Amino acid sequence: MKKITFYFILIFVVRSQIIIAQIDPTVTAIINSVSIDSLYENLNYLTGEKSVVIPSGTQFIFSRAYSNPGNFAAEEYLQLRLRRYGLETSLQTFDAGGGNVIGIQRGIKRPNQKIIICAHFDSRPYTGSAPGADDNGSGTSAVLEAARILSKFQTDYSIVYALWDNEETGLNGSSFYAQQAFSNKDSIVAVINMDMIAWDSDSDNLAEIHTRDVQNSIRLPER
Ligand SMILES: [Zn+2]
Repeated sequence: MKKITFYFILIFVVRSQIIIAQIDPTVTAIINSVSIDSLYENLNYLTGEKSVVIPSGTQFIFSRAYSNPGNFAAEEYLQLRLRRYGLETSLQTFDAGGGNVIGIQRGIKRPNQKIIICAHFDSRPYTGSAPGADDNGSGTSAVLEAARILSKFQTDYSIVYALWDNEETGLNGSSFYAQQAFSNKDSIVAVINMDMIAWDSDSDNLAEIHTRDVQNSIRLPER
């Protein structure tokens, strides 16, 4: 699990209210509270190594792939986890059986402006076991860890913790959310999407941050 990516996220979110981020003791404390154990434990539940206790019963999530029972169990489990951190949660349903899990932490000064921390939780293949520990249990686990830590703080902006469904079928979950946000004229100031953050193809122990020349994407990591 790459801590670097995760540190970047924490630094960015807190920097939105603290200007001198690198040396601020609050930022340091937040970074130090990132727990590898916690990240691994999240994965144990998301990949069927350990059973989850959810309203529909105790079960193992063997597959989070499209329309599998584990996909629906994951929706329940993720909502439960975000609620545990005092967040307002909702399930944004779309298409047949798709469900984005959304948790909201209201900002104090600019509640109508949102920072989205997100990852897709669905996996592949569509039949048989599909633990998807890397793609994208790792990103999902990091969103939960961000919620665990940041929900203890008051932030200027609202933070949306979003876990997309049906990414593997064609980015369906995030596309649906984007369409709704556009219709609602949402003000989204930043999006940090984590995908396969446990994957280190060349074993150089470096995390990659990808930006694109749209909106403030390129400027974002420099702020
Ligand atoms: Zn992915």
